[in-house]
Parts: sequence; structure tokens; C-alpha cells
Amino acid sequence: MSRAGDQPWYLPVDDEVQVFEAAWRARLPVLLKGPTGCGKTRFIEHMAWRLSRQPLVTVACHEDLTANDLVGRYLLSADSTVWTDGPLTRAVRTGAICYLDEVVEARKDTTVVIHPLTDHRRVLPIEKTGELLDAHPDFLLVISYNPGYQSSLKDLKPSTRQRFVSLEFHYPAVEVEATIVAHESGVDAATAHRLATIGDKVRALREHGLADGVSTRLLVYTGQLIAGGIAARRACDIAITHAISDEADVQQAVADIVDVLL
Ligand code: ADP
Repeated sequence: MSRAGDQPWYLPVDDEVQVFEAAWRARLPVLLKGPTGCGKTRFIEHMAWRLSRQPLVTVACHEDLTANDLVGRYLLSADSTVWTDGPLTRAVRTGAICYLDEVVEARKDTTVVIHPLTDHRRVLPIEKTGELLDAHPDFLLVISYNPGYQSSLKDLKPSTRQRFVSLEFHYPAVEVEATIVAHESGVDAATAHRLATIGDKVRALREHGLADGVSTRLLVYTGQLIAGGIAARRACDIAITHAISDEADVQQAVADIVDVLL
């Protein structure tokens, strides 16, 4: 959860800020779609700040996450059981933006609570207490999804997907990514530009079965290692070459790119 008052720095890549603001005004649920480490989380943190909707409620979804984890549960106290709101319920009551990161990872029963919140009803059924909670007027549900590495078994169902407007994210163009890497890591502009160029070339290695290539996050890590005194080539080994693959031929292909461009 981001702290109120923090201003998360975000460099717009396209018209995503304007689109999200319009979606927010109409209270349209939003799906952020794109590969890992391309800025989706930073974007929503920035938008929550920009729209004065801090703190953002973020839930990192995983395969054991159930509807109860989102909605809440009865907890035992000394001599009674006390109802405790889960993160989604808290957001629905207080009018926060709730960000469900990698939502397809969660158990299927979560759709039961997502669906009535994302159509004209805007209600959260709390099965355990029998409450039907009307969403606060400022509540907004935002989910993220990486189409690249989900198996078809874990695809978003059309009945869920079609409740959201879909904002697509891609790794940014070299100039933009260089600005991001410089800002986030503290390396000089020339180094940042070289790292962004390496990123661009590595992503072109599709034939090696690299689904996502290298993320902006890893390029930032590389820059942070360099800024921390690690030699550039060693930093690229650690944060790019060995981070994105365990396969020797892929690592060699990436190392060749680094050799040429560094
Ligand atoms: P995702 O949620 O898509 O997996 P993140 O939002 O965590 O990725 O992005 C990873 C890192 O990349 C961020 O912490 C930030 O340093 C950097 N980043 C990526 N895109 C941007 C951007 N457009 N503006 C600012 N920082 C960015």
C-alpha cells in the first residue's frame, strides 16, 4: 500500500493518463494489460496519487487467494468471533481504488465478488454476514493481467474481461525507457540509453522463446547496480543475462548483444 502524500513518479508512454482519468470519471473498471515489469503498478500508484485516491489498496493475487481473502472473515478474539473486512471490502466501503495485480492467478471463486462490483449494480455481496454492500461512489476496481505467460487455462474469461476497459501497456521506446532508467537508477543519460538499447535488442530475440524479453524493471536494476559501483558488464550479467533465462544458448545470445552495445 502506498503512503498518502507520496508522489510516485511516472513517465507517460501514450495517452494512458488521460484515458484513465476519463475511465475514473465514469467509474469504469479498468484492466491494465501488459508484460511484467513494464510500469503497470507504478502507473496505478501514480494515478491514485493524481486523483487523490491514496492510499491505493493493492492485492498481489496468487493461486491460493480466495474470495474470502478479498472480502474478509470472522476472526476469533478472546471469547467471540469478530468480522474483519478484507482489502476489497475496505476499498468498497471507503471509496478507494482497489488494484488486483495478476488477477487470473486467483481462485475462480473471486469472480463471484468481482462481477457484481463491475456492472451497474456496484455491490459487494458478503456471503458470511449476509450483507449486500453498496460501493462507495469513489470506489474503482482495477485489475492487471499479463497475456504473455498465462496458459490458456488461466486466461481471463470473456464474462470477466468484458466488464473492464482495457489499457494495453508495452515496453516503452528506447528514448522513453532511457529516461525512465536514468531517473529510477541514477545512472547518466548515456549509460541509460545504452541499457535501453540493450533492452530493445534483447526483446527482439523472440525466436529464442523469450516471451517477455527483459523488463524495464530489470533495466532499472542494472542501472542501480552500475550506480552502486558494479562494472557495467557485470551488472548486465547479473540483472539481465542471468535474470531472464537459465538456458545457455539464450544467455549467450543476450551476452552477445551486451558485448556489442555496452
Ligand atoms: P509491472 O507492474 O508492470 O510489473 P512496475 O510498475 O512494477 O511493473 O514497473 C517496474 C519498474 O519500472 C518500476 O518500479 C519503475 O521503476 C519502472 N517503470 C516502468 N515504466 C515506468 C514509467 N512509465 N514511468 C516510471 N517508471 C517506470
